Amino acid sequence: MSRSVLVTGGNRGIGLAIARSFADAGDKVAITYRSGEPPSGFLAVRCDITDPEQVEQAYKEIEEKQGAVEVLVANAGVTRDQLLLRMSEEDFTSVLETNLTGTFRVVKRATRGMLRARRGRVVLISSVVGLLGSAGQANYAASKAGLVGFARSIARELGSRNITCNVVAPGFVDTDMTKALTEEQREGIVGQVPLGRYAQPEEIASSVRFLASEEAAYITGAVIPVDGGLGMGH
Ligand code: NDP
Repeated sequence: MSRSVLVTGGNRGIGLAIARSFADAGDKVAITYRSGEPPSGFLAVRCDITDPEQVEQAYKEIEEKQGAVEVLVANAGVTRDQLLLRMSEEDFTSVLETNLTGTFRVVKRATRGMLRARRGRVVLISSVVGLLGSAGQANYAASKAGLVGFARSIARELGSRNITCNVVAPGFVDTDMTKALTEEQREGIVGQVPLGRYAQPEEIASSVRFLASEEAAYITGAVIPVDGGLGMGH
């Protein structure tokens, strides 16, 4: 059965791999993008998740063109790394505004249709860093840890309506986000990963698609690490 899927930040990186994976399986897939030319093959809606009005407009367009969202993957996220003493209010709040409050916005709007349909799947993209912590990423780690409490609360609130909410916590993935690291930083990270390499975006996508599948109907409030063993025990 072809479902109506929305992947925020589905125009590149992990989000694009997730969007492709659902489209390849026959689902109708909408992606958000903020600027430039979005990739083809999807319903691309322009939307900055920090703007409530743009989120509302995006949902209206998706509902009109491919139906109410049945599977939401809240993937859009940013980093703004800085050591705590040098981290400005703006560094902190802007990352929280996108990664946590932006996710709240898109999830809240999606559940409207899911409640009506009495079914739905929500998958949030957190990070191993949310559980392990990371020097220079207090803002990012706080936002990603926040997603876990957020997801588990929703899992409790909406479980009786057949809506699941789960978290995927990737380790280091080869995308623009990690290309910003120096070669030395990359080598240092790989040295700590039991599998000894970065993940490919498609390796995150497969777990997301599983959580959205019928086979995962009894999984909710879970945090699935896809991190090559980096976060073991956390
Ligand atoms: P990229 O930097 O490659 O892509 C980020 C995506 O988020 C882009 O599509 C971007 O859109 C979108 N985005 C950012 N801010 C907003 C906003 N305000 N409104 C709408 N869209 C926005 O990152 P990745 O693909 O690497 O990361 C995807 C997710 O996975 C993020 O949540 C990230 O934190 C998480 N993650 C990544 C890891 C990694 O190693 N790469 C590890 C663990 C988690 P635009 O093109 O318009 O900028």
